[in-house]
Amino acid sequence: MSKVRTRYAPSPTGKMHVGNLRSALYEFLIAKHAGGDFMLRIEDTDQERFVEGAIDIIYRTLESAGLKHDEGPDKDGGFGPYIQSERMKSGIYMEYARKLVERGEAYYCFCDKERLDSLKTEIVEGKEIMMYDKHCLSLSKEEVEANLASGKPFVIRQNIPNEGTTTFHDELYGDISVENAELDDMVLIKSDGYPTYNFANVVDDHTMNITHVVRGNEYLSSAPKYQRLYDAFGWESPVYIHLPLITDENHKKLSKRSGHASFEDLIAQGFLTEAVVNYIALLGWSPEENREIFTLDELIEEFDYHRISKSPAVFDIVKLKWMNGEYLKAMDFDKFYEMAEPYLRESLTKDFDLKKIAAMVKTRIEIFPDIADHVDFFEAVPEYDISMYAHKKMKTTPETSLEVLEELLPILEAQEDYANDALYETLCKYVADKGCKNGYVMWPVRTAVSGKQMTPGGATEIMEVLGKEESLARIRAAVAKLQAGKESSL
Ligand code: GLU
Repeated sequence: MSKVRTRYAPSPTGKMHVGNLRSALYEFLIAKHAGGDFMLRIEDTDQERFVEGAIDIIYRTLESAGLKHDEGPDKDGGFGPYIQSERMKSGIYMEYARKLVERGEAYYCFCDKERLDSLKTEIVEGKEIMMYDKHCLSLSKEEVEANLASGKPFVIRQNIPNEGTTTFHDELYGDISVENAELDDMVLIKSDGYPTYNFANVVDDHTMNITHVVRGNEYLSSAPKYQRLYDAFGWESPVYIHLPLITDENHKKLSKRSGHASFEDLIAQGFLTEAVVNYIALLGWSPEENREIFTLDELIEEFDYHRISKSPAVFDIVKLKWMNGEYLKAMDFDKFYEMAEPYLRESLTKDFDLKKIAAMVKTRIEIFPDIADHVDFFEAVPEYDISMYAHKKMKTTPETSLEVLEELLPILEAQEDYANDALYETLCKYVADKGCKNGYVMWPVRTAVSGKQMTPGGATEIMEVLGKEESLARIRAAVAKLQAGKESSL
């Protein structure tokens, strides 16, 4: 068997969407799982859709996702050039198109725009398409030569018979047969001399020894035409794997409007590259065992493309957030701190020990931007209602809380050591003396120093970060607030 060679073949038309990254990832995994090569080929024959900077995005994304290519424009492996506009310079596409003309599998077409516009159109999958009427197929050899000699603009079209069927095989969809009459004589070489994507793709996949082609299933309807080209040349077609559609939570095609359609958008929203890659791997593929967290190396080990599903994959941002949170929990603390620090600094202007705060939030956030909501109270106690002191399970009320805080104030004023352990010990001693439950004391203290029902750390952890002066100021303010509340309810 020949060496597995896959390619990611993006058209540089803008951002790298989740669907593009999934194709690249699966191509990469198929190659690496089989010990083969993963290649990058830039498909820029559609000059009108070319977007400046898009190639840089492709390189950046592949690199940060860890999808290292073995061959590509920047890494020659003997199959170059790897950019179609450069490949074209050797005349390769024209040469192959002429071979098809010689075999009667393609023909020159000189129809002008006016004539083409007058042809019947059909609505296929919501799009208006024109079926060419083979008008130029009947031109004699002499007529064609005279036209070419006079410099008349032309395209080269694929010649698909009106009878019979064409069958191709997809690994997921099985054998698919289409009536030839439904297939248009698509353009292979455009009037500007460039090949169409459809043609260049086939010529390149073959001449670059590609064994497996992974692409979105929007290409499924073109696949019979590609198959006819392979057959016309007498080439063996690669293994086709057409991937299921990716939809948003509302089962609509994932689009820019969903806000998380591109890789760079997700990273800008604070997701980790590893988590995004892990999540995308599961958009349509599932491993044998019921497991969800995979490093890239583990994916290489596990990835079996036969386990890709045909049903649409739902991009579930809630699930991705959960997964991102799992990555944060597992992350080495120093690395976590390095990444969390900018977010902490944005929320906190006072001189806190940010490492301690980072350690508190590490297991509680799902993405870095969550940090703001978890740490805001360190900066200042938010407005809160004294009803927050009432907690059924802790058996506390605003009244019991006032009593506890008033009794604790002198004890905490006398306390020198404001380290978490020392403070905890002091509070536990008070609990023991009073003969109450822990929460009866911890709840009011934590509420007093944070003003929040949920905090990333316990009362004494928070006090350690706040320091003695600020902790006492907050407890005094809480006492005053509770006293005022008591008076107004009298
Ligand atoms: N250039 C095509 C695209 O960007 C690639 C499709 C394929 O992989 O064959 O959509």
